[in-house]
Amino acid sequence: MKAIRGATTLAADEPSEMRGKVRELLERIVSANKLRVGDIICIMFSSTADIRCMYPAKAAREAGFSACPLYSSSEPEIDGSLDLCVRVMVLADIDRAPKPVYLHGARVLRRDVAQIINIALDGPAGSGKSTVAKMVAKKFDILYLDTGAMYRAAALKCVKEGVDYAEGSQVERVVGNIDLKVEYRDGRQLTLLDGADVSDQIRTPQISMLASYVSAYPFVRKKMVELQRRIASEVSCILDGRDIGTNVLPDCPFKFYLTASPEVRARRRYEEERAKGSSVTFEDTLKELNERDAQDRNRAVAPLKCADDAVVVDTSEMTAEEVADTICRKIQESI
Ligand code: C5P
Repeated sequence: MKAIRGATTLAADEPSEMRGKVRELLERIVSANKLRVGDIICIMFSSTADIRCMYPAKAAREAGFSACPLYSSSEPEIDGSLDLCVRVMVLADIDRAPKPVYLHGARVLRRDVAQIINIALDGPAGSGKSTVAKMVAKKFDILYLDTGAMYRAAALKCVKEGVDYAEGSQVERVVGNIDLKVEYRDGRQLTLLDGADVSDQIRTPQISMLASYVSAYPFVRKKMVELQRRIASEVSCILDGRDIGTNVLPDCPFKFYLTASPEVRARRRYEEERAKGSSVTFEDTLKELNERDAQDRNRAVAPLKCADDAVVVDTSEMTAEEVADTICRKIQESI
């Protein structure tokens, strides 16, 4: 279940205004959140003390929202509150992140629940980004966008098409027409390439290296960054990657950069691979990780780099829970 917030102001304390604005507010909430009638569990309103003309719940019932319980209350008179403001909370049986709706100058009360927030989480391979990002996403009930998966899918496409990676024009032709989508099912990101779910196929050491290689091409980055920015503008999310805070979302208010020694990072990767049944050695994992780091740090376009205004967290001696708690606490402190 999710709580969807919204508010609107009225131009006058009159029933016709209440009817029109409440209908508009609820219809906008329904369409922004793609709600079906059966999804709505209940609708609760509050209105500022200067509204006397009509209960918002009555206006909602008249607008056709009569299949669920409706409730109205009046707020106390508070200095500095908006004039003629109706607030609503719609409880709905959905899994997706709720999209709040504020109309006619109504203001949000809590920045974290009421507007789109983006969190940038950058760092080298094995620094713990994806585990931590999943935890933070869960805590704030926002999406986790794994941007590395997009570069990995681009690399996989090149493998499937048999392109020569050193030939920029071949990579450009293939990635230029890539059919890449990111979808969410049961809270998990699925990476769809040409309509097929390749989420597991892109998690091999070979694809890791190739992703790092193709991601250095400016046209590949341009294409992926466009998609990442579009998703980030539509829905609250934490994005993990290499250039989120420096390039994808330079104005993002919450930026974190995770680090850890190469040995610690390689150990984490090695254990992940062994758990999947792979026979890689620790030495090979460390070597590959160092090569990939060097490639990511030294490329000309949007290299792996800590943004000047990012909070740096050294995860070498921390558990994923501790890192996630640190990030959540910093965010809570500033909202
Ligand atoms: O994070 P992950 O290991 O899945 O990323 C795979 C590769 O994709 C990285 O080594 C990096 O070269 C590239 N990448 C990038 N920019 C991002 C995310 C990943 O260049 N924002």
